[in-house]
Amino acid sequence: MTLEELTEALAEMGEKAFRGKQIFTWLHSRQAVSFDEMTDLSHSLRERLKETFQLIALEPVQVLISSIDGTRKYLFRLPDGNVIESVLMKYKHGNSVCVSSQAGCRMGCRFCASTLDGLARNLAPSEILEQVYGIMRESGEKISNVVIMGSGEPLDNYGNVIRFIRLLTDEKGYHLSQRNITLSTCGIVPGIYRLAQEGLPITLALSLHASEDEARRELMPIARKYTIREVLAACDAYFAATGRRISYEYSLVKDVNDSLDHARRLAALLRGRNCHVNLIPVNPIQERNFRSTDRAAAQNFKLTLENYGINATIRREMGRDIQGACGQLRRKYQSEETVD
Ligand code: SAH
Repeated sequence: MTLEELTEALAEMGEKAFRGKQIFTWLHSRQAVSFDEMTDLSHSLRERLKETFQLIALEPVQVLISSIDGTRKYLFRLPDGNVIESVLMKYKHGNSVCVSSQAGCRMGCRFCASTLDGLARNLAPSEILEQVYGIMRESGEKISNVVIMGSGEPLDNYGNVIRFIRLLTDEKGYHLSQRNITLSTCGIVPGIYRLAQEGLPITLALSLHASEDEARRELMPIARKYTIREVLAACDAYFAATGRRISYEYSLVKDVNDSLDHARRLAALLRGRNCHVNLIPVNPIQERNFRSTDRAAAQNFKLTLENYGINATIRREMGRDIQGACGQLRRKYQSEETVD
């Protein structure tokens, strides 16, 4: 609930207006896990709150810590038994959490583990928010950046994701800077136009992965619905409306999209755009025989883009030893549960 909704609900219960703000602060500034913690509320009010509302507080059922880079991968169980995963990455510039927006996914990208079992359901705003708060509680760390890049397609759960962003960035709550949020989409074109009108200065990351429609369709079913030209036009509109530079994501798959020719075509496609390319050596999943581009080839790909004036970075692959990529841990956990 937003602060306004909470205030209104409390007023309907016959409480003073400031109670709403008090509870909002407990939830979002102090990440309370129960009404009992809210000791500046009367005992009877706390009891009524318990009867009237459901407070979702997520405790991880599993935490894996990478011995390579300290990345922590979390598995949370939701009240209905679904499990979702989130990641804490520590960088010099601050801590970043990667959240899931859906349990599973129905987008079908070939290299991604999140989608292998399809979509279970959309996550509620509270369930997305609690991934951030639950990680803060477990790790004792403050979070300065959030990327909506875990399992699920955020623009396929549009309303709940927007509500999550507004709650997390509310100045009366945790007040994370909207500029420190990145939303990654496989390219649902109407959703991108809609997002451009929300008045949110968040970064849009677009999963491109190919520079030609035919090749993109091989990797991503959504490309059968929208052409690259349509996706780029939507991204241009997003940039025009928000002034936020677009991040294009390009997962490098050996012998599929990683040649220097591919790099040149990608550069031609993005020429003249104020953008950034994030190269992600594909994190191979066992269900598909995609292989990752090696370091040197990735480096050459990046240099080729730069020669054509396109900014690019190779994303550090974090948490490889802990099922770091989208959907890998959830899937492993679920298959082990079935065996048990
Ligand atoms: N549905 C959204 C966000 C989730 S995926 C989207 O498609 O953008 C976040 C990014 O990781 C996307 O660019 C996705 O294509 C990429 N990705 C997923 N699985 C991957 C893997 N195994 N290796 C490399 N990149 C992967």
